[in-house]
Amino acid sequence: MKQNEHVDHLRHSCAHLLAFSVLQLWPEAKNAIGPAVENGFYQDFDLGDVKISENDLPKIEEKMREVLKTWDSFEIREVPVEKAREDFAWNPYKRELIEEFAVQGKTITETKQGDFLDLCKGGHSESPKDIKHFKLLSIAGAYWRGNEKNKMLTRIYGTCFPTQEELKAHLTMLEEAKKRDHRKLGKELDLFTFSDLVGPGLPLWTPRGTLLRLALDEFVWELRRERGYMRVEIPHITKKELYETSGHWAKFSEELFKIKTREGHEFAMKPMNCPHHTQIYARKLWSYREMPQRYANTTMCYRDEQTGELHGLSRVRSFTQDDAHVFCRRSQVKEEFLAVWDIIDTFYRAVGFGELSVRLSLHDPDHFEKYLGTPEIWQEAEDQLRKLAQERGVVCKEEKGEAAFYGPKIDFMAVDSIGRRWQVATIQLDINLPERFDLVCVDEQGKHERIVMIHAAIMGSIERFFSILIEHHAGAFPVWLSPVQIGILPVSVEKHLQNAVEFAEKLRSVGVRVEVDETAETVGNKIRKAATQKIPYIIVFGDKEMAGEPLMVRIRGKEEQAKMSREEFVDQVLREIQEKK
Ligand SMILES: [Zn+2]
Ligand SMILES: [Zn+2]
Repeated sequence: MKQNEHVDHLRHSCAHLLAFSVLQLWPEAKNAIGPAVENGFYQDFDLGDVKISENDLPKIEEKMREVLKTWDSFEIREVPVEKAREDFAWNPYKRELIEEFAVQGKTITETKQGDFLDLCKGGHSESPKDIKHFKLLSIAGAYWRGNEKNKMLTRIYGTCFPTQEELKAHLTMLEEAKKRDHRKLGKELDLFTFSDLVGPGLPLWTPRGTLLRLALDEFVWELRRERGYMRVEIPHITKKELYETSGHWAKFSEELFKIKTREGHEFAMKPMNCPHHTQIYARKLWSYREMPQRYANTTMCYRDEQTGELHGLSRVRSFTQDDAHVFCRRSQVKEEFLAVWDIIDTFYRAVGFGELSVRLSLHDPDHFEKYLGTPEIWQEAEDQLRKLAQERGVVCKEEKGEAAFYGPKIDFMAVDSIGRRWQVATIQLDINLPERFDLVCVDEQGKHERIVMIHAAIMGSIERFFSILIEHHAGAFPVWLSPVQIGILPVSVEKHLQNAVEFAEKLRSVGVRVEVDETAETVGNKIRKAATQKIPYIIVFGDKEMAGEPLMVRIRGKEEQAKMSREEFVDQVLREIQEKK
């Protein structure tokens, strides 16, 4: 058994334990679903009129330990629909699932441990006694099945590890993660906001946040321009027919925002840009001499995520892709892939991530119905990527079932400063869309040649990338990315402000982002404020500074102030911005 599977089984088992323990404490409660998730598990409950808070968690944990003593094994058994209906007559949530399984013709299985009967398809630890090192973490509201039309349930989150050491390390990491939560820091640093009137999952970008986004996107564009990319632009909606041809109408249907025009035509907001871009390529017949065609386009996409699934910037309904598509011949795939790979390496180093790990995401041969194309096409494409990674000398983990539905991909994972792994960039080979849209070029013999497509987003969703970046740096961005790079704090508004503003203007004129604190607060307050804004350089501007004496520079993260002339200071800051240190 794989290590991950073992841990998932442990956590899923622990969710059953939580379910039964809550039912013991509050007999009117009804348990809904309780899956293992990344880093833990949760269990949803309809608690009726009972209100619980995080203060109740220790009591529930105690009950769990008590119940555990009475559990010896997990007994899984298949039951007829009638029996399941009877067993769960008291629980409308299980009943709803049972009716669905019945319609789908699925077998229904129950699990029994101690006095607890639950609806479950299996996947438990070998013995309940394996559950030892667990902790309940938090309580949140969650709509039944993530749909806001349904009843709001109470979700209890917990985690469970094979050893006490792993549990402890994880809890320490969670503490640290809480301090870095991008939703909290985004507000404190004034980077983005949400409005009830605009709606959930639709982030709005403040001037500072926009500045940062543009800095990131400009950098990606610089790297692309050097490699022959050209910018394109597209509308955010399309006729239904585009997605019928691409296959998205069928495969993506639930997540599509659909629009009806006054003339009764069906349109959709774009959930991705690839189909639009194929039509830019298809505007003429290209000669092999003009290949590849590389289109870059940073643009917003829209997906109808369920309200319950939304989370800060990491899961949103409107997100910006720094998207690019390369239309090329099969013989050019390797070179184009390697060029994107170089961009990814350069970019992630500059934004402060170490070495990225690489995953080769393949299709799942047992569920071929999830994919477009034929097994032969997939085999060929996957072999090509495998060879490419080998040639680059990179150790690739291969993962079945992680491919996009139109082709295999290479995914890049970053580890953040508190040890969490995030999937960031991805390069995808697409052999299907060119088939569907009949994309060709003219080869050396004057014949039509089927081309392939490479999807290459560097940040992917800028919103999601932003959430990772904020938490990785705890808001203390590298100088080149800081919305305010230098904070100038005049000691006295009457005496020093005018001179400080003049100094700031000089800095701005060479391209540095400077802010002067014009409030009449004490210097101590101003310094504290600038520090919470995580400004990398702070200068207290008083008599000496006005007289042109060397500056005393407060550098973020350093105890000691640095003494330097104005010229030295400007040089240092400019160098740091330019070198993206
Ligand atoms: Zn189970
Ligand atoms: Zn694409």
